[in-house]
Amino acid sequence: MNTGLQLYNTLSRKKELFEPLNAPNVGMYVCGPTVYSDVHLGNCRTFISFDLIFRYLKYSGYKVRYVRNITDAGHLEGDRDEGDDKFAKRAKLEQLEPMEIVQKYTLGFHDVLRMFNTLPPSIEPTATGHIIEQIEMIKEIIKNGYAYEINGTVYFDVEKYSEEYNYTILTNRNLEDMLANTRELGGQDEKHGRLDFALWIKAKPETIMRWASPWGVGFPGWHIECSAMSAKYLGDEFDIHGGGMDLAATHHTNEIAQSEACSHKQPAKYWMHTNMLTVNGTRMSKSAGNGFLPGELFTGSHPLLERGFSPMTVKFFILQAHYRSTLDFSNEALDASEKGFRRLMNAVNLLEKLTPSANSDFEIEPIFNNCVKAMNDDFNSPVVIAELFEAVRIINTVHDGKGNISEVELEKLKKLMNDFVFDVFGLKDEETSNTELNSVLDLVIDIRKGAKENKDYATSDKIRLGLQSMGIQLKDSKDGTTWNKI
Ligand code: AMP
Ligand code: ZN
Repeated sequence: MNTGLQLYNTLSRKKELFEPLNAPNVGMYVCGPTVYSDVHLGNCRTFISFDLIFRYLKYSGYKVRYVRNITDAGHLEGDRDEGDDKFAKRAKLEQLEPMEIVQKYTLGFHDVLRMFNTLPPSIEPTATGHIIEQIEMIKEIIKNGYAYEINGTVYFDVEKYSEEYNYTILTNRNLEDMLANTRELGGQDEKHGRLDFALWIKAKPETIMRWASPWGVGFPGWHIECSAMSAKYLGDEFDIHGGGMDLAATHHTNEIAQSEACSHKQPAKYWMHTNMLTVNGTRMSKSAGNGFLPGELFTGSHPLLERGFSPMTVKFFILQAHYRSTLDFSNEALDASEKGFRRLMNAVNLLEKLTPSANSDFEIEPIFNNCVKAMNDDFNSPVVIAELFEAVRIINTVHDGKGNISEVELEKLKKLMNDFVFDVFGLKDEETSNTELNSVLDLVIDIRKGAKENKDYATSDKIRLGLQSMGIQLKDSKDGTTWNKI
């Protein structure tokens, strides 16, 4: 088991050695999507980043229980429990039942993540499937004196909680300033303090998704679902809790408060946050109109896109940035990622075709160790990619006959690529996984070989040039003919 992993903890604002509470078991909870509409590429960046973390923890020998929820209830338009229910609003717009909306966008979310070749979580609980657990938790918080009911709605009492706990532990904001604002509550506001947030919300006559509770008919607030479901599946204290950076100030801050008010325990040892995908420096979001969908990206059908890019190109683009850095979308950056990814895949495909020599000009172990070191340094995928390109250079040098590699080093090279490109990054070759194209090209290459043997150079050139005009390059070497996409 790898015991040298350092990860950045938002709680301490520094990198810490990863020491799970109960190694080799690891509990990881990541806030999942709100399924009232399609996920955009920004959302995907966060889920791809946690997939990288999940994969590397598994690769490191840990037994990970990865819980990623589906928010299918209780999400109002305002951050502070005001506004319409997003599911009900969408249901009306699309003339569907709210649960049809939930089903439609959950399936869409799964489709998209499958295209990005991410691993499914171990458990994917839904908010609507855990109403009882949420009600039980709210009862406990009231019993402990940190929540109050007004007219069928239950609020969390932030000021009371702050007397004993640190409400701004994740963000380090100034609570005095925040609490001072609570004195300026609007006249019709029923809660005691502006920072107070709803644990349970009284249903309006038109509310469709509603449940009976000790406080009357209503529905849970957004934050309580994650506290209730993480405790149910991972316990009151677990290892990693993650999500996008935008969740730290409200959703995760409130989650910590709820869990502490219930069990007197801070739920997660390590809080991890991914940075935002931006477009021209602005965060990608549905409301900003710059939140294009993965489907639009693959086909190039969004006005911001000059053409389509494949899922693996996009995933490679995401992995080329560290998960805690912002990543700005541009057509040029994706063009470059496409070229880089093709170079990497072409080299991987050449591996089986290399002939080992008695001696070796290259040593693979330092590259392998650098990859492990980079991943152990808070999952530094861009540094791993730079190391993989060193391996690409070696593969191409040997293939071009300009260097030798021994059998032992060749095996290490194969393991390096297999471990990091496929296991840890979860990339796959979209060209060679297209088995039909492979079979057709094998056949064409064989026909060309026959033509050359018969000195029918006209046919052999016709095949080579014809394929070239389609973006497929043939390369002849002493080991036979290989192809790659240009
Ligand atoms: P939501 O469905 O809005 O709850 O978001 C699902 C996840 O995507 C959350 O973890 C968000 O923090 C994350 N997210 C939202 N916008 C972006 C973005 N532009 N870049 C990266 N992650 C994002
Ligand atoms: Zn959550």
